[in-house]
Amino acid sequence: MIQGIGASSGIAIGKAFVLPNWEWDLPEQKIDVADLAREFDRLYEGIRTSKVEIEQMKDELREVVGTEESYIFDAHLAILDDPVFMNEIQGIIQRQYKAAEVAVKEAIDHFVTMFDLLDDEYMKERALDIKDVGNRLLKHLLGAPEITLPSDTQPFILVAKELSPSQLAHLNPNHVFGIATLVGSTTSHSSIMARALGIPLVVGLESKLEEPIQTGDMLIVDGDTGIVHLHPEDSLVKQYTELQKRQYEANQRLKGIVSVKPVTEDGKEIELAANISSLKELDVALASGTNGVGLFRTEFLYMDRSRLPKEEEQYEVYRSVAEKLGGCPLIIRTLDIGGDKHLDYFELPEEDNPFLGYRAIRICLDKTDLFKTQLRAILRASSFGKVKIMYPLISSLEEVKAANALLEEAKQELTAEGHSFDENIEVGIMIELPAAVMIADILAEEVDFFSIGTNDLVQFTLAVDRMNDQISHLYEPYHPAVLRMLKMTVEAAKRGGIHVGVCGELAGDLRALPLWLALDVDELSMSAHAILPIKERLLCLKQQASRSMFEKLLKCKTSKSIHEMLAAFQNDQSSDMDVKSTAFRTS
Ligand code: PEP
Ligand code: MG
Repeated sequence: MIQGIGASSGIAIGKAFVLPNWEWDLPEQKIDVADLAREFDRLYEGIRTSKVEIEQMKDELREVVGTEESYIFDAHLAILDDPVFMNEIQGIIQRQYKAAEVAVKEAIDHFVTMFDLLDDEYMKERALDIKDVGNRLLKHLLGAPEITLPSDTQPFILVAKELSPSQLAHLNPNHVFGIATLVGSTTSHSSIMARALGIPLVVGLESKLEEPIQTGDMLIVDGDTGIVHLHPEDSLVKQYTELQKRQYEANQRLKGIVSVKPVTEDGKEIELAANISSLKELDVALASGTNGVGLFRTEFLYMDRSRLPKEEEQYEVYRSVAEKLGGCPLIIRTLDIGGDKHLDYFELPEEDNPFLGYRAIRICLDKTDLFKTQLRAILRASSFGKVKIMYPLISSLEEVKAANALLEEAKQELTAEGHSFDENIEVGIMIELPAAVMIADILAEEVDFFSIGTNDLVQFTLAVDRMNDQISHLYEPYHPAVLRMLKMTVEAAKRGGIHVGVCGELAGDLRALPLWLALDVDELSMSAHAILPIKERLLCLKQQASRSMFEKLLKCKTSKSIHEMLAAFQNDQSSDMDVKSTAFRTS
């Protein structure tokens, strides 16, 4: 078993075809001064032909994977128009009297080495783009042959050191079961394309391989777990074949409901939103037909760096997310560090109980500059979409008022500076502490919405550290005490006439769905991969049946009996659901 990084989900089983590296046979001798003009003509002709070819590829790809992914080739066209890249090539021809192909190769090597040295994934990806475009140009200058794929029509698993978008675009997806690359990242253009094409892909195998993979070797590539099996036993192949079949059937079903409204059989609609922590995750969420972002965990913007992000940097990110959501709601949660989330450059005190300690809104109300910088960035982004603000770890009305007072200051500053923002921006809080549940009626008068953070609410209701393995069996979301907390919260929100959502893990748990229907929550926000399975179940459920079941559930005295009742309900619904989903698929 070889552990790589899963970059495009799905399972591929088949024989490997190992892609040879492109090697170029370049002329060694210098050119004469008299031949300079000829070399420039060859270069420009090569550029023209490359551009035509890229445009064609872009059109073909647009038909297969859609406009979103075909934009990748715009980046390639831009390189061919880039004055810095072109000046480098022209300079080498003009000053060093080298042939056009030699100049192109040296310019590629120069930029690729430069970008590779930078400790920045994005720039490394750009290095791959330059190599890809450069190789295309070289092909036209040298007339070198394209890589020939196996001539029989047997599909294969492509194995390569790295794979460029052009190489991927030339592949017939029907001939490629899957791909495994030695280098690469999940954010590369090839990974984006593989996902769009639905080809399983595992990257980053280089340091894990004990023996090289050869053409013809039997492989299993699991794009979900990032695992590759070389020379698998028959029993393993059988196991994966079964898994592959089940995944295929499930995916086909789910793809059909991406743009279907999330509404129960008896008409209850629930917004299905996504929890994200980066722009990358937003793309996956959008592909799952999300109704918005119910939780943007902004602390990840503060991690993996050496200083606090400036207002401008934060504003750019929040604005991009808001724009990409095109009018769908975006709930931005203010900084929630402390507990298990640390910043290398921000000294937090050593504490005996960090989860009960200096964290989240408590830090923000103490370090008001840090908090106001974020509030200003969020406010400014609110001009570009339906942005809402959410405070985490609220335990009292005073905290909400103090946070709102700083928000008011931020608004006044921005107005004085001439910045525009949504004056009526909605402000909500996370309900994740028992104290907040108990005073939910008071808090509901002060805010526009609640979002229930079940991850922390379970931890604090049951006094079970969510990070402690030794007591993880006590971390029980289906505890009667938790059910009562949830009920109290939603009822207080309803009485106060405010929107109520759920953004903890329980929102994406299929077993909990009848609970949310019975409670009549407005929104469920979850990790993107949970959206379609939840929607599929929602379409076949009835709110009324969930309500009747919930009445009985509230009488359960133990978690065990709650689990049993939910399982029995799920079984009843599933047999019903099989009939309905078949009808749905054929309608
Ligand atoms: C929660 O506590 O449920 C929640 C969504 O917040 P986090 O998991 O980021 O603490
Ligand atoms: Mg939390």
